[in-house]
Amino acid sequence: MAANSQIEWTEATWNPVTGCTKVSQGCKNCYALAMSKRLVAMNNPRYKNGFNVTLHHDLIDLPLKWKKPRKIFVNSMSDMFHEDIPDEFIFSIFHTMNLASWHTFQILTKRSERLKELAPKLQWTNNIWQGVSVENEKVIHRVDHLRETDAKIKFLSCEPLLGSLSKLDLRGIHWVIVGGESGPKARPMEEEWVRDIRDQCQEQKVAFFFKQWGGVQKFRNGRLLDGQFWDEYPSNDILAN
Ligand code: SF4
Repeated sequence: MAANSQIEWTEATWNPVTGCTKVSQGCKNCYALAMSKRLVAMNNPRYKNGFNVTLHHDLIDLPLKWKKPRKIFVNSMSDMFHEDIPDEFIFSIFHTMNLASWHTFQILTKRSERLKELAPKLQWTNNIWQGVSVENEKVIHRVDHLRETDAKIKFLSCEPLLGSLSKLDLRGIHWVIVGGESGPKARPMEEEWVRDIRDQCQEQKVAFFFKQWGGVQKFRNGRLLDGQFWDEYPSNDILAN
């Protein structure tokens, strides 16, 4: 885990679980897998099992020791609702998040079926933002699964965006992040796909965050869309309702 994160929409990462397996096209060039290979090569003891799902019991209460409030991306090196993570371990992670009310926790999953199944057993305190990855139309059903949960703030991560998402039903969704794939094998993202999602967010009054164009040299391509940065976040007013 890292007290600071390079990811544009968060501030820190916390990884009580590491390792995962691929489930959809968005996983093809998995950043976490590439990062874990580097950590294995550096003999990092957290990655002695490589990218196999590994539970780190000693990290369960780590955020309680961080006194300064942070936005924390939970399990950035795994998927919270992976089938190999026992229910009880997920409950323990939620227990920590429920106690650490001064932090904001951001969870992202591609396993929306298990999210939906477990959601009624989880305590959705206001500081937990739940998201699903939606890289193309084939996985759009994840939005419906997310909508069925009681998470107070619900978001979509459309990264890497691999196709047009022209019919997004954003009812009950508060935030959409869009980004192109980066790295040597980056797959292309069309400008029109991004504009279309931004316009749908504006029409449906949903916060829009444009993370990056991506590409082989992502820092060259930047993150401006139509001449401006799009760094919107969900409004705190949602929590008052
Ligand atoms: S779900 Fe996420 S962490 Fe798991 S393989 Fe896919 S991209 Fe990687």
